[in-house]
Amino acid sequence: MSADLVVKNLHVRIEDQEILKGLNLEINKGEIHAIMGPNGSGKSTLANTLMGHPAYEVTEGEIWLNGQNVVELSPDERARLGLFLAFQYPSSIPGVSVANFLRTAVSARREGPKTGSNGDSKGRGMSMREFRNELKEKMALLKMDFGFAQRYVNEGFSGGEKKRMEILQMAMLEPEIAILDETDSGLDIDALRIVSEGVNELMNPNMGVLVITHYQRILNYIQPQHVHILVAGRIVLSGGPELALELEERGYDWVRETEGS
Ligand code: ADP
Ligand code: MG
Repeated sequence: MSADLVVKNLHVRIEDQEILKGLNLEINKGEIHAIMGPNGSGKSTLANTLMGHPAYEVTEGEIWLNGQNVVELSPDERARLGLFLAFQYPSSIPGVSVANFLRTAVSARREGPKTGSNGDSKGRGMSMREFRNELKEKMALLKMDFGFAQRYVNEGFSGGEKKRMEILQMAMLEPEIAILDETDSGLDIDALRIVSEGVNELMNPNMGVLVITHYQRILNYIQPQHVHILVAGRIVLSGGPELALELEERGYDWVRETEGS
């Protein structure tokens, strides 16, 4: 039985530079994984490549989601299949409310892939009423004020509100694999709490989570079962939660030395 998400010998280029150099990773639903690595090691490149960002060219390797190779699929198709990437720097969408934005995204996700084996969508669209009920339920779960749903997406949002928007999207989309790429500048404590409480609240056996981070700090709040260290485009070490603590104590140089790289 192979894992729900399998990344195999992934090589990725941006412009003329090879950034990921043979990366392997397996994540199952119900698991929380963390990838840690120094600045420039390729963490965001991995996140963007998994999602299918066109600037990142896969020159070799495979990405399998639920037994399907998604390397050739568009970001939209991947999202429909259940991959989710929280935006690090989401843009604002004037005139589009959070509720409307989410309804469009959720409808697409519920329909599933555009091209099923018989070409039909699965027809799991939801009525306005169903959608509102679910939105209310999820917002209550995340202790969010329902008035937030009427605001325009990211317009004048504080850092913390942007994070709430990400987590709410995740709650509504019910991804199979959620990827959170956290900024290296570090989240302030408020944003950190929003993200980690949200992930912990939403965690369930049907979702796998990949938290990408430079700092160990967030892992005090979201506890991964598996920690991987990314250096220069490769995962050089994998282990349990203790690896994050060791890294915090000893820094990345220690890993580089261990690896002799
Ligand atoms: P991390 O998230 O680990 O800090 P990145 O994946 O953002 O690392 O970057 C890895 C390397 O790829 C860096 O050397 C960076 O300059 C380069 N890089 C990332 N994105 C781009 C891009 N869009 N265009 C050119 N180079 C890029
Ligand atoms: Mg990054």
